[in-house]
Amino acid sequence: MEVRGLPDEERTRLASAEAHRLGLRSLASDLRVVWNPRLRSTAGRAWPGQGVIELNPRLREFGDDEIRRTLLHELAHLVAHARAGRKRIAPHGPEWRFACADLGIAGESARHRLPLPRSRQKRRFRYECPVCGTGIERVRRLRRAAACFTCCKAHAGGRFDKRFQLVERDHCAATGLDP
Ligand SMILES: [Zn+2]
Ligand SMILES: [Zn+2]
Repeated sequence: MEVRGLPDEERTRLASAEAHRLGLRSLASDLRVVWNPRLRSTAGRAWPGQGVIELNPRLREFGDDEIRRTLLHELAHLVAHARAGRKRIAPHGPEWRFACADLGIAGESARHRLPLPRSRQKRRFRYECPVCGTGIERVRRLRRAAACFTCCKAHAGGRFDKRFQLVERDHCAATGLDP
């Protein structure tokens, strides 16, 4: 995955320190926080396979507390994935909520309430490989089960393998502004 956006050294250090505190050393060293100007209604995004957190530059209009909260929200996704290993977990399930509590944002909601502009693009459905974290986006919901191309190629001789079945993921925040 190509990481777009401006790296944020300070917040990368902060997120790394948190991961370290929770004993997740490999996550701590992989972590990168970037500002991605292509995000619109999404406050932030996490890419568990790559240890990348993307933040929406518009968040700056809402102050440091919102930036920090979004950062921790996304970090909780990475923490939950790091702890789960290869086990499949729901995006905002118990593992994520538990990670939120560990990061000091217990009770965090899956969707933000910030008045960010709605997405101009119509790509609404996001799917993710539960193993490597590769994501795809679609205008329509997938009708048939699809699996991660990369993982199937690497571990299943190129055939469809349920272990790598793409899971639908909330846009984290993007859907929060839908009517
Ligand atoms: Zn994969
Ligand atoms: Zn989320």
